[in-house]
Amino acid sequence: MSKQKKFLLTEKDIPEQWYNIQADMPNPMLPPLHPGTKQPLGPDDLAPLFPMELIKQEVSTERWIDIPDEVRDAYKMWRCTPLFRATNLEKMLDTPAKIYYKYEGLSPSGSHKPNTSIPQVYYNMKEGVTKLTTETGAGQWGSALAFATQYFGLKCEVFMVKISYNQKPYRKLLMNLWGADVYASPTDITEAGRGILKLNPDTPGSLGIAISEAVERAVMDEHTKYSLGSVLNHVLMHQTVIGLEAIKQLEMAGDFPDIVVAPFGGGSNFAGTAFPFLRYNLQEGKKVRCIAAEPASCPKLTKGQFRYDFGDSVGMTPLLPMFTLGHNFVPAPIHAGGLRYHGAGAIVSQLLKDKLIEAQAIQQLECFDAGVKFARAEGIVPAPEATHGLAVVFREALKAKEEGTSKTILFNLCGHGHFDMTAYQDYFAGKLHDHHLTDEQLNYGLKELDKSIPIT
Ligand SMILES: *Cc1c(COP(=O)(O)O)cnc(C)c1O
Repeated sequence: MSKQKKFLLTEKDIPEQWYNIQADMPNPMLPPLHPGTKQPLGPDDLAPLFPMELIKQEVSTERWIDIPDEVRDAYKMWRCTPLFRATNLEKMLDTPAKIYYKYEGLSPSGSHKPNTSIPQVYYNMKEGVTKLTTETGAGQWGSALAFATQYFGLKCEVFMVKISYNQKPYRKLLMNLWGADVYASPTDITEAGRGILKLNPDTPGSLGIAISEAVERAVMDEHTKYSLGSVLNHVLMHQTVIGLEAIKQLEMAGDFPDIVVAPFGGGSNFAGTAFPFLRYNLQEGKKVRCIAAEPASCPKLTKGQFRYDFGDSVGMTPLLPMFTLGHNFVPAPIHAGGLRYHGAGAIVSQLLKDKLIEAQAIQQLECFDAGVKFARAEGIVPAPEATHGLAVVFREALKAKEEGTSKTILFNLCGHGHFDMTAYQDYFAGKLHDHHLTDEQLNYGLKELDKSIPIT
């Protein structure tokens, strides 16, 4: 018999609870601080931006949090997602390693992000919120939130970084199709936007500016709140449905991973995939290696500092304890737009500091080379972000071959690349190149950090 290719669960296998790793961390994370007073934040500080249930989840140390029935119902539209054995890729790489991948590109918006946009919109709706604002760079998060607000009947306002707005018309149209208003940021409808446009009318925009605009709109109206697609604890927790399903599916395959790999932007799909396995390390002494794959052009985990820093480039958000390149760091305009963020979520940062997870930085050409090989072997075109995880899988699979050991590797294929074909076009045309950061570039954002609070 040839090897089984995919491992499928039914709707009744959709997890009933999310896993909250805060219950099992040996060292709890440091508290977020108020940007003005530098004192730990209280729930009231966050109330203008988030509904109370999400604020509770943000600080909860309960190990398991119930997933509401309405959220599990919405999850049925694409969950459970399949787990594939990458049989063709194993053959292509001629490796003794067993490679499995969980495929999150089957969600309506094409990535893992609806796993959190659906519960976030649900809790907002329950607390009487009628409109959500957010920012988006490449458009993955904006479309996931537009899909979820459409589903639960809320309005949605997306501030899309101007350069992406012009470069990615199909992502914008997808958000419009799901009923969202999409603005090229900076706009003239916010104080923050008008201020920036006055100084620099031709600015291409940035995520930091778009965050400032979305936050300002939310604070101005009592029925409007703000939503974030990564970094925060509750976002990471919602994504654990990925790893919880994968555990069951690997059981069906009679396997358990030696290595778990996922690409890393702010940490949500990495956390969602790895934390349920990390639980076995923390509770039962297992030794699963969990590897986050980041771009060499934005290497906060491998080259950043563990410090308090702002989440946005303007300096409006709370100070978070994180591995960061500094909130002023300007990443190169790589095609993996979802990975161009200066900092890592607080939980992932603490776990990295405690050496409970690993990180590798990968250059762009190695990523696209792995992405094209994967598409040729397995058929699915990976999102540029996902190719970073793939590159690490290739490295580990080839290492297993050299060492002659059979490792079991689980990889999260967090999204498809159907909206990103210009990235592949540029790759084939030889227009992509690697980015070697100078010390000056690396220190640019970190210098600013001297003014914020060092962690001793
Ligand atoms: C947003 C996004 C990422 C990066 O965000 P994380 O929070 O680190 O998961 C990676 N891949 C895809 C496809 C995305 O949409």
